[in-house]
Amino acid sequence: MISVVVPAYNEETNIPAAAERIGKVLAPLSEYEIIFVDDGSKDNTWQVISELGKENSYIRGIHFSRNFGKEAALFAGLEGAVGDCVIVIDCDLQHPPELMKDMYEAYQNGAEVVEAVKRSRGKESFFYKMCAKTFYRTMKKDSGVDLDGASDYKLLCRGAVDALLSMPERLTFFRALSSWVGFETVKIPFDVQERNSGTTKWNFKKLFKYAISSITGFTNFPMQIMTVCGTFFFIFALILGIQTLVNFCLGKSADGFTTVILLLLIIGGLLMVGIGIVGYYLSKIYEEIKHRPRYIVSKQVNKRTRNNGEN
Ligand code: UDP
Ligand code: MG
Repeated sequence: MISVVVPAYNEETNIPAAAERIGKVLAPLSEYEIIFVDDGSKDNTWQVISELGKENSYIRGIHFSRNFGKEAALFAGLEGAVGDCVIVIDCDLQHPPELMKDMYEAYQNGAEVVEAVKRSRGKESFFYKMCAKTFYRTMKKDSGVDLDGASDYKLLCRGAVDALLSMPERLTFFRALSSWVGFETVKIPFDVQERNSGTTKWNFKKLFKYAISSITGFTNFPMQIMTVCGTFFFIFALILGIQTLVNFCLGKSADGFTTVILLLLIIGGLLMVGIGIVGYYLSKIYEEIKHRPRYIVSKQVNKRTRNNGEN
């Protein structure tokens, strides 16, 4: 059985189309279920899902008590999935469902993880592309996980899903974690499509927060920057200190206020940034240590569990 996990946030118009197109592709391949995870939508997304679920037993729905974010929705879907392999796909049909056929074929030929990688990034502004590049480069440098072209469109075998679910951390980054767990991986390129309808759920602020949280969740690179800067400044301070002493001994120590002011400003600034970065990591530790659930489910349709089938 194939499970398809579809996170949906205010996607009422896209759900029927997504269900239909995914169903068309999967029906000839195998038994399947489509799990729509409603991430606390404010529109009629849940009504649409539950109606579809009532008509079709292979459509399942999980409804969050509020918006917990796409990451939480993905994990809820993975946790609920009962299939031998799970495909994760966006609700807006920017990920062409037709690709699932190739993904499933690769899985049957022995692949354990099949990643759909973006051949082109679709319609995006130059600025957005630059930001994405910088982000991916930072991630790769330290964590070794190459995310260029990576998307959240993936097929995972049961083993990989269980490995992901066994991760204790609350603040997850699915795209990187699913590479991090390893497994036999096959990549299939695809072109990002136009959104079926509706608008993107991301704005610059949300994306920026997501990027910072992913980088700090996966790498210690920002903290290391501070160490490197600190080292440079120490060397610089030594040289300057010697020069000042020499000047003092030679009796010409009155000038140099500019240097003092500049140094004060630069070092002060760096220190504050440094403390900020350390604080950010601390706050993440605090978040993790609270052990709050990743999400809260308030309603479900066609609920199933892995052990006892349908209930
Ligand atoms: N999404 C979600 N919760 C959120 C934001 C987005 O579940 O808080 C879902 C959304 O419904 C869609 C997918 O994540 O299925 C990707 O969102 P979107 O298309 O807005 O992102 P983009 O394709 O623009 O990166
Ligand atoms: Mg999209």
